[in-house]
Amino acid sequence: MLEHLKTHFGFDRFLPLQEEIIGRVLSRKDALVLMPTGGGKSLCYQLPAVLFSGVTVVVSPLIALMKDQVDGLRAHGIAAGFINSSLTAAQIVRVLQMARDGALKILYVAPERLASPEFQDFLRGVELSLFAIDEAHCISEWGHEFRPDYRNLKTLRRDFPEVPIVALTATATEQVRRDIVTQLGLGQAQVFISSFNRANLSYAVQPKRNSFNRLLELLNKHKSEPVIIYRFSRDNTEELVEDLAAEGFNALPYHAGLDRELRRDTQEKFIRDEVPIIVATIAFGMGIDKPDVRLVVHYELPKTLEGYYQETGRAGRDGLPSDCVLFYSHQDRLKQEYFIRQIGDQAERENAEKKLAQVIEFAELWTCRRKYLIEYLGEGWSESTCDGCDICLTPRETCDATDISQKILSAVVRTGNRFGARHIVDVLLGKRSKQVVRYGHDELTVFGISRGISSEEVLHWISALLEKGMLEKDRGKYPTLATTKDGWEFLNSGGRLQLTAPKRDAEGSIGERNLGEESPSNPELFEVLRTLRKRIADDRAVPPYVIFSDSALLAMAGSVPRTREDFAKISGVGRVKLEQFSGPFLEVIIEYAHTNGIPEKENAVQPLYRPREKNRRSNRASSTLNETKELVGRKMSVGEIAKHRGLTENTIVNHVLRLVEGGEEFVLDHLMPSPERLSKIEAAFLQTEGVLLTPVRELLGEDYSYEELALVRIGLRKKDS
Ligand code: ADP
Ligand code: ZN
Repeated sequence: MLEHLKTHFGFDRFLPLQEEIIGRVLSRKDALVLMPTGGGKSLCYQLPAVLFSGVTVVVSPLIALMKDQVDGLRAHGIAAGFINSSLTAAQIVRVLQMARDGALKILYVAPERLASPEFQDFLRGVELSLFAIDEAHCISEWGHEFRPDYRNLKTLRRDFPEVPIVALTATATEQVRRDIVTQLGLGQAQVFISSFNRANLSYAVQPKRNSFNRLLELLNKHKSEPVIIYRFSRDNTEELVEDLAAEGFNALPYHAGLDRELRRDTQEKFIRDEVPIIVATIAFGMGIDKPDVRLVVHYELPKTLEGYYQETGRAGRDGLPSDCVLFYSHQDRLKQEYFIRQIGDQAERENAEKKLAQVIEFAELWTCRRKYLIEYLGEGWSESTCDGCDICLTPRETCDATDISQKILSAVVRTGNRFGARHIVDVLLGKRSKQVVRYGHDELTVFGISRGISSEEVLHWISALLEKGMLEKDRGKYPTLATTKDGWEFLNSGGRLQLTAPKRDAEGSIGERNLGEESPSNPELFEVLRTLRKRIADDRAVPPYVIFSDSALLAMAGSVPRTREDFAKISGVGRVKLEQFSGPFLEVIIEYAHTNGIPEKENAVQPLYRPREKNRRSNRASSTLNETKELVGRKMSVGEIAKHRGLTENTIVNHVLRLVEGGEEFVLDHLMPSPERLSKIEAAFLQTEGVLLTPVRELLGEDYSYEELALVRIGLRKKDS
C-alpha cells in the first residue's frame, strides 16, 4: 500500500485512519468517514479508485472545485474527468464515452446528474468500482448545508447493491451522521471518526485595541502568504481593503453584494496566488479548497463557535503551521447582542443568544482555547497544554489566590450552586443586575465583597478554580457553577491556595512559539521554487498547488536534492511528477545551491542564508545553458539534445525559453514540429486567444506534448516582437 501511495501520490506515509479506511474500501465494503478539513479524505477514495479495475464515481456539490480536483489528479498521472453544468452536451458525451471505454479511473459528478435518465443508463452500462459521496452531510436536512439534489443518492444502494459506497464529511453531529446512514442505506457501514483537533493551527484572541496596527503586524509576519480576513459587514470589507491598499497590501473584498462574475474572478485570483489577501464576509470559503492559507483573522466576533471552527479550519489544510487570530472587544459584543435582539422569533433569538454566549466564553477564556473548542465539538481533551494557543504559549506565574478563591467559592455556595459565572461576578462586584435583585442576592454578605477588581479578573479566577477542580461546570442547557468536594475542603480547611496569575498584558502576546513562523530553511530557495511553480502552473492553467504543495517545496528547500533519486524522495513527488517536473525544479535547485555554496549531501545542517548577488549567474547554470545552446546551434532536435545530455525534453525546452528570454538570437526552425502540426498548434493558440498551454492542449488532444506547444509559443512570441 505504501508503495502505491508513493507511486501514485508521492506520499511516504498515511495520515491517521487513511490506511484503515482504504483497506475497508478495497475489500469492497461501505464506510462512513468523519474527518476534519485537511484530514486527507480525498485519498480515501482516490487511492482505491486507482487500484480498482472499473471507474469510481465521486459525487460532489462543489462544482467550482471539480476542475481543480481533476487537474490535481491528472498532474499525478491519474485518469480523471468531471461532468457538471459548466460543460456542453457534447463535452459530457465525450467524457462519458471515455469512462465507458475504461479510459477514466475517477469521474466527478454533481448530485443533480443522478436524476438524469442518460446518466442512469450510463451507470448501468459501465464497470462501477465505487461510489464516493463527498460532503455527505448535504443529504441531511438537519445539517446547515442541506442540498435537495443529494436526495437523488438514495437510489444508489437500491439500484447498485453490489457497488460499495464511501460517504465523507467534515461536519457531522450525531443526528446528521445517523441521517447519512439511513438515507444512503449504509446500515453495514463501518464508521471512521478521526480527531477534530487541528494540531497545526494556533489559536489566539487579541483585544481589539489598535487593531489595524496589529493586523499589519500579522500580515507582515505572513508576508505574501495567503490570508483570509473575516469581517462583519460588506462595508467593513471594502473599507479594510482600502486601508490595506494604503499600506501597500494587495487585498480584494469578497461578499454576497458583489457581482457573481467578480466574485468568481476574485476567488480565482486567490487560488492562483495572484492576490494574497481576501477580506470577506463569511460568504467566502465554501467553495474553495486552497490548501496553503496561512492566516485566518476574525476582525469581529463570529456568531457561533461552529462557524468559528469551520472558518478557521480553512487555514493550513496542507498540515503546515498556520495562525488563527480573533480580535475581541466589548463593543463588538454589544453590537452582536443588539442584532440578536432584533430577531423576532423567540426560539431563534434564544438560540442565537446561547451561541453568542459560548463565543464570548471562548474569547474570554483563561484556559487552553483548543481544549475548549475540542470539548465543545464533543470530543475529549486530556492534555494539560496544547502548545498552540495564546493561553498555553504565554508563560504565566502562579500567585497566592487564597482570598479571592474563598470569596468566589462562598458566593457559589451562598447562591445555591446553580448560577453561571456571569451571575457570580455580578454578585461579587456588587452589581444589581435584574437577576441579582430578583433572587435577592444583593442582600447576601458576599454581595460586593470584591468591588474594585475587574470582571475579567474574576472570570479568570473562576476559570482557574475550574481547572483546579474546585468548581465544576454543568454542561447542560445553562453552564451553572457548583462547588466540588475539593472546593468544600479548601473552604473548610483554612489552607492557602496558589493559582495561575492572570495575564496582565494581553497585548500582542501570541506567545513564544509562533506557529506560523517556522520559516523554511533556505527561505530564498523556497521563494525561487514558488516562482517556478507559479510559472508552470500558469502555463497549464491550473492552481499552483496542483503542481506541488507548499510542504513539498519546503522539503526541497530543506534537503536541496541534486539528483533525480533524491528528488524522488520528496514527499509529494510521485512517479508522474518526477517525470514531468524534476527537470526544471532540479535545475533551479542546483543553480541556487551552486550560487550559494551549499555543499552536496549536507542534508542535516542547513547553510546560512546568504543573499544572492544580482547578475551573478553560476558557472554551472550558464554552462548547462551554453551546452544546450551549442547543441541547438548544431541543429539537433529537442529530443536529440535531451537524449544526448541525459535530461528531459521539458528541461531542454526550458533552456531554450530562458535563452530566448535572455535575448539569445536563435534560429529555432529545426526545433519546431512538422509544418502540419505547427500550423495546427498556431491555429489553436489563435483560437484560444491566449498564451496558455492547457487550453491549446485540450483543443488538440493528448497527442501534443507541452514541450511542443511551449516551443511553438516561443516561435510565436518571436514573430510578435
Ligand atoms: P480534506 O478533503 O479532508 O479536507 P484533502 O483530501 O484535501 O483533505 O487533503 C488535505 C491535504 O493533505 C492535501 O493537500 C493532500 O494532498 C494532503 N494529504 C493527503 N494525504 C496525505 C498523506 N498521506 N501524506 C501527506 N499529505 C497528504
Ligand atoms: Zn492551549
